Amino acid sequence: MLQEKILSFDNLLNEVINQNLCNRCGGCVSFCSANGIDALKIGKDGYPEYADKDKCLEDGICYLICPKTIELEEEIKDKHNWKYPIGNWEDIFSARSTDVEVRTAATDGGVVSSLLLYMLENNFIDGAIVSKRTETCGRIPMIAKNRTELLNAAGSFWAEATHLDELGNVYSSCFPVIKVIKDSAEKDMKRLALVGTPCQIKAIRKMQAMNIVPSHLIVFTIGLFCMQCFTLDDLMKQNFAKKHNIKIEDIEKVNIKDKLILHMKSGLIIYIPLEEIEQIAHDACLACSDFANDYADISAGGLGSEDGYTSIIVRNSIGKQIYSEALYKGYVQNHVETICNSKDKDNKLINIIKDFAIKKKIRTEQKINSAGK
Ligand SMILES: Cc1cc2nc3c(=O)[nH]c(=O)nc-3n(C[C@H](O)[C@H](O)[C@H](O)COP(=O)(O)OP(=O)(O)OC[C@H]3O[C@@H](n4cnc5c(N)ncnc54)[C@H](O)[C@@H]3O)c2cc1C
Ligand code: SF4
Ligand code: SF4
Repeated sequence: MLQEKILSFDNLLNEVINQNLCNRCGGCVSFCSANGIDALKIGKDGYPEYADKDKCLEDGICYLICPKTIELEEEIKDKHNWKYPIGNWEDIFSARSTDVEVRTAATDGGVVSSLLLYMLENNFIDGAIVSKRTETCGRIPMIAKNRTELLNAAGSFWAEATHLDELGNVYSSCFPVIKVIKDSAEKDMKRLALVGTPCQIKAIRKMQAMNIVPSHLIVFTIGLFCMQCFTLDDLMKQNFAKKHNIKIEDIEKVNIKDKLILHMKSGLIIYIPLEEIEQIAHDACLACSDFANDYADISAGGLGSEDGYTSIIVRNSIGKQIYSEALYKGYVQNHVETICNSKDKDNKLINIIKDFAIKKKIRTEQKINSAGK
């Protein structure tokens, strides 16, 4: 009888990382370090690599939880009641934070930061995994425990952040006792919210489907819409700076809706069609078909909302509970014209989002088909 092939990190290397399909979510490393196996680490370039191959248990869990493998796909679809083309949804709103300071720091309406603030201040979570901007337009994942830390992380810059690795590092205490003592400063944090792109949320959902540490600490997920990821450096290399006569350091804020929007310090706003930036999308993004963050509790993006507002998709009962409490307690306010629930099939906002989700799926199919030729 043929023995079933045991999968290991070698398979991830061959099928995902070496094929440029890894989006550096850090999920595989997070599992490995949180469980004290420590066979993997994040390398200098942000990609996972062996820390010590001899420690690898070859249990294949890193392979199963990677958002770029098809493993567990059907399980999470079932669990989250997935429907074409944007997953399950209950309500959709265009909304903004009521807090002017949050709105000023935010990418769109600051709803993501205000929902996190509501959860922190009302003891629903002990911390939120977010990512703060660095000087060089990158991001560093961090656990925000208060308003100041949340404000530092608000707003978007276009680089991936290895959130799930942060979770693994901080919560490696969950398994080996010695590390619990070492990480005592963090050990009372048992309930976390996670903000992430669809690939990051999918990795955590796969971990949760298998009940593996440290995913049990994530009690709420806010998923950002995502057409693709790229760095501003990549953008500048595309003769873009020359064409628009700008410098990267003059960019004050980056946003993406149906176009990429650059707000310059001078007040100038530059709109770039998404087709123009597709050439600099990572291969991993071109093979990714989730736009609306289908498995989050609440999804958020700028698409379809007027400037200064966030489009919010509430997907399940926990999402409904948090959103309605934050609304009731005055953390967020809805834009009156776009309130809609899942019974309204013809709402303009949901249709715009569905159209984009379908566009992304078609792009992915084309990419996969052309790679197979
Ligand atoms: C890589 C990326 C691609 C996106 N693509 C689209 C798109 O195509 N269309 C669209 O409508 N919206 C897109 N968004 C979402 C949009 O930019 C806003 O983040 C969203 O509308 C929430 O706005 P807000 O003002 O409510 O959030 P804020 O209150 O500003 O909070 C934003 C939160 O996102 C976190 N964050 C920022 N960057 C990252 C990152 N790289 N990885 C993980 N977390 C991060 C911050 O730490 C913060 O907690 C994208 C966001 C990102 C990060
Ligand atoms: S789990 Fe994330 S970091 Fe690890 S190989 Fe897959 S995409 Fe890359
Ligand atoms: S396009 Fe997909 S792979 Fe790329 S950052 Fe967004 S969710 Fe991740």
